[in-house]
Amino acid sequence: MYSKDSLNLWRSGQGYWKNIPASQWNDWKWQMRNRLSRKTEICEYLSLNEDESIGLDIVKDKLLVSITPHFFNLIDPDNPLCPIRKQVIPNKSEGISLGYEDVDPVGEEGSMVTPGLVHRYPDRVLFLVTDRCGSYCRYCTRSRLVSNAQGYGFHPNFEQGLDYIRKHTEIRDVLISGGDPLLLSDNKLSTLLGELANISHVEFVRLGSRLPVFLPQRITSDLLHALKSHPNLWMSIHVNHPKECTVELRNACHKLAESGIPLGNQSVLLKGINDDVDVMKSLIHRLLIMKVRPYYLYQCDLVPGTSHLRTPVSKGIEIIKGLRGSTTGYAIPQFVIDAPGGGGKIPLNPNYVEEVDGDIWKLKNFEDRIFSYYSV
Ligand SMILES: *Cc1c(COP(=O)(O)O)cnc(C)c1O
Ligand code: SF4
Repeated sequence: MYSKDSLNLWRSGQGYWKNIPASQWNDWKWQMRNRLSRKTEICEYLSLNEDESIGLDIVKDKLLVSITPHFFNLIDPDNPLCPIRKQVIPNKSEGISLGYEDVDPVGEEGSMVTPGLVHRYPDRVLFLVTDRCGSYCRYCTRSRLVSNAQGYGFHPNFEQGLDYIRKHTEIRDVLISGGDPLLLSDNKLSTLLGELANISHVEFVRLGSRLPVFLPQRITSDLLHALKSHPNLWMSIHVNHPKECTVELRNACHKLAESGIPLGNQSVLLKGINDDVDVMKSLIHRLLIMKVRPYYLYQCDLVPGTSHLRTPVSKGIEIIKGLRGSTTGYAIPQFVIDAPGGGGKIPLNPNYVEEVDGDIWKLKNFEDRIFSYYSV
């Protein structure tokens, strides 16, 4: 069983589905077809508590439920507080909307220049290419459009987006996200990456995907072959809890890394899931052994119906403070708030500057000891 401070990775294996042929289990399309979406399907394996049961009834027009068998196996059926469970099984608290929450919590719609293309920063764009995901995270920033439960009707226009990027020579960086871009077929993804590679001012392309976590089976040799031919490609994955770091995920990450794709991770700080220094430390240590560099730790966005999963901002700073000096620098992500209203990502750090006295900077180290630096 999983233990908090051990680096032994959890092997998901076929779990509840041990009787099906491995060839099916390892087929990502089988995993997609056999996702657990309905209450009756979930109840076959888990006894839901009342809050979850109500939650499942109220989310049809908020954000669909869909859990891959691989990820479902990671849920501890005996623990209602299981950190995996809380990420994908809705709770009745999703019905609570607060005045300061917003369906577009980080103001993407205002910077959407073509359907799916968000141009906020001068030199880079966010290209949303689908509204589908492997499973649906209950805190999703883009709940308004992913899964189409809210009837957004998201239809990204690849040609218009590519035309915009071609015309805007200041764009050097394209972040492909969604939804989950690895749900596009190998062909469609290759074509898109190929078009971007043909734009001379685009020098850096990233895929943002949670599929290695939800569906490591998606990292096929055909996909790796397609990705390998794009030399300027990086990938950001999304892991929140050490229990997600399975042998299957590690193998997928190692294959991606061996195909020349540098890997980063983005986590969302979530109440009762990873809002703890020891849990976070265990997560980031596992990420390093999977060849993944922790990149961002996000304050949970003000998405309607997510207040039960949000922590105070001070919690994130406390966690970063607890990590700095007590683990590998590479392992420490940058804590950020994606500002409501389209302000972009704003880094938040513990305060390391005690005071500036003329030319003397009084700095606080990880043990809260003060050191002076003479700055000309
Ligand atoms: C996050 C994001 C990016 C990429 O930002 P980085 O700090 O370079 O990772 C670009 N555009 C939008 C709209 C984003 O939200
Ligand atoms: S994988 Fe990403 S886009 Fe999809 S539901 Fe989760 S957070 Fe949202």
